[in-house]
Amino acid sequence: MKLIHSNKELNQAITQARSQGKRIGFVPTMGALHKGHLSLVSIAKAHADFVVVSVFVNPLQFNEGEDFDKYPRSIGQDARLLTDNQVDVLYAPSAQEIYPKDFEIPRLLAGALGEKYEGAARPGHFDGMLTVVSRLFDLVKPDIAVFGEKDAQQVALVTQLLNSQIRSGRRSPMALKIGPTVREESGLALSSRNVRLSDSEKQVAQSLSRALFAGAKAGSNGETIKSTALGLLDPEAKLEYLELVDALSFEPISSIGPNPARLIIAAQVGKVRLIDNVLIDGKK
Ligand code: AMP
Repeated sequence: MKLIHSNKELNQAITQARSQGKRIGFVPTMGALHKGHLSLVSIAKAHADFVVVSVFVNPLQFNEGEDFDKYPRSIGQDARLLTDNQVDVLYAPSAQEIYPKDFEIPRLLAGALGEKYEGAARPGHFDGMLTVVSRLFDLVKPDIAVFGEKDAQQVALVTQLLNSQIRSGRRSPMALKIGPTVREESGLALSSRNVRLSDSEKQVAQSLSRALFAGAKAGSNGETIKSTALGLLDPEAKLEYLELVDALSFEPISSIGPNPARLIIAAQVGKVRLIDNVLIDGKK
């Protein structure tokens, strides 16, 4: 595996792979890699011949007072994991490579879908996320990119952006693949932020997925689904939102209809903000 820090070297590696007729797969991450990230790598490997993983903690998607400085960083360990998983390139750029001083990278706006739930809790977060994802797509020029269902609102926004960029001719066609959420045996969704939970906080954190799973089994009435979930949430978890939404639009819904829905949750446990969600099939 090649560890690359500059856009120039990245471009050389991509050009060479393309000249050999290889399909490029891409997994963007913020590092502190765990099995959830690695599951996306194996999806990329199944659909591409040359896999690039980026590690970049994007300052644009953190607000003031958020955990940008405290976000876990472990590039040495990340490089070892990716080598073991036969990744071709680990691209770990500096902020200067992503946001050069000598030319302006257009800042993207996430719009209405970007202002709800995660966007409401973290103003500007999704604008920053879309800006960096689009920039990374421009640099890597992948045939396929892989994202995790764990960040379902992010997936909805990236899908929207990509469709509109491809439709307008701004970007060559490329595919998105979505990987299912990888969980601990307890149900807790793996997250880089989990390393900052104490043992007792971890117990509290486990109640998020327990709540979601119970809610998802509680029939089709929205209020019943939410109150069942709420009943299983540890009172030590500071709930930010728990909502039943349409899986595509993220509009709140009052019952499960013909279309897929998502039960989404965000809660603060200790100093760590956690999110999770489950898909609930539509009732045909
Ligand atoms: P992050 O490093 O948190 O920005 O995540 C990078 C990618 O990994 C995103 O597409 C996430 O949705 C995905 N991801 C994070 N946690 C998990 C998980 N537990 N299972 C599957 N994918 C995940």
